[in-house]
Amino acid sequence: MFKPTAVVTGGAGFLGSHLCDRLLAEGFKVICVDNLITGNINNIAHLTGNENFSFVKHDITNYIFLPGRIDYILHFASPASPIDYLKLPIQTLKVGSLGTHKVLGLAKEKKARMLLASTSEVYGDPVVHPQTEDYWGNVNPIGPRGVYDEAKRFAEAMTMAYHRYHGVETRIVRIFNTYGPRMRLDDGRALPEFVGQALRGEDLTVFGDGSQTRSFCYVSDLVDGIFKLLMSNETNPVNIGNPAEITIKQFAEEIINLTGTKSKIAYKELPVDDPKVRQPDITKAKKILGWEPKVDRFEGLKITLEYFKKMI
Ligand code: UDP
Repeated sequence: MFKPTAVVTGGAGFLGSHLCDRLLAEGFKVICVDNLITGNINNIAHLTGNENFSFVKHDITNYIFLPGRIDYILHFASPASPIDYLKLPIQTLKVGSLGTHKVLGLAKEKKARMLLASTSEVYGDPVVHPQTEDYWGNVNPIGPRGVYDEAKRFAEAMTMAYHRYHGVETRIVRIFNTYGPRMRLDDGRALPEFVGQALRGEDLTVFGDGSQTRSFCYVSDLVDGIFKLLMSNETNPVNIGNPAEITIKQFAEEIINLTGTKSKIAYKELPVDDPKVRQPDITKAKKILGWEPKVDRFEGLKITLEYFKKMI
């Protein structure tokens, strides 16, 4: 039976590895490409020996040759947590720009469909709330987050150029905050930080006064939205995320309650350009993909907590 082949860059990362699982379950062959600077081989260890899965250790900012037929490329390689891209600013800029160029070149050569993992960070510190896809954003190009935000904005521009000029079939997903098993405990994001601190009995470090908002999507919902977008005809960007918005202080309190820890909240300085609000408007995804998230935060957090307990 014919099996389409998909390449997943960043396939050993949090989202990439869940995508590899989903694509294999859908009957694809999967080639995972990762240089493992933020990805982790443990995320794909369970796929060892699967005849439909292969792993290539490679930095996608360099030219890549892959023999044979390729039908889909999902470009998920990039440091993606604020701590990671502050530690790896040049690599972040390179993978968003040079890496996206290499991936689009491969897509053109193979006549493959390319899906770009973009981000709600393209909206910056948004003045339109919730964020709709037609909002152009409010990004500081020279601030510390600029390395990620501008790389992804460039990646979107490059993707649209290859679509318009070379006729490459492209898709762009704008991913909002996502959580679930295989997040790294040390990646600096709010959820692993809070859970790690709660489980170790330390105080939870809330930045600023905790009034900034985020909207957290469980990973299986996100992957489902991405798969539906990949299979759709939509070439313009689509927001995928869970619109359930809370303040970071409320989020920390939820984790304190869920873990039953005696830890309290400790307030720390707000990072530069930390967005004050963030919530996806998912009207477009609902309409064109028939997609909306199903897993509520309580349910998703319980599963994630069990994962982190095993890790600690
Ligand atoms: N945050 C926090 N304490 C932490 C880590 C993060 O209060 O230990 C805050 C951070 O300032 C931001 C929000 O939680 O307002 C979400 O941060 P995260 O790094 O998860 O992702 P972001 O949405 O900023 O990309």
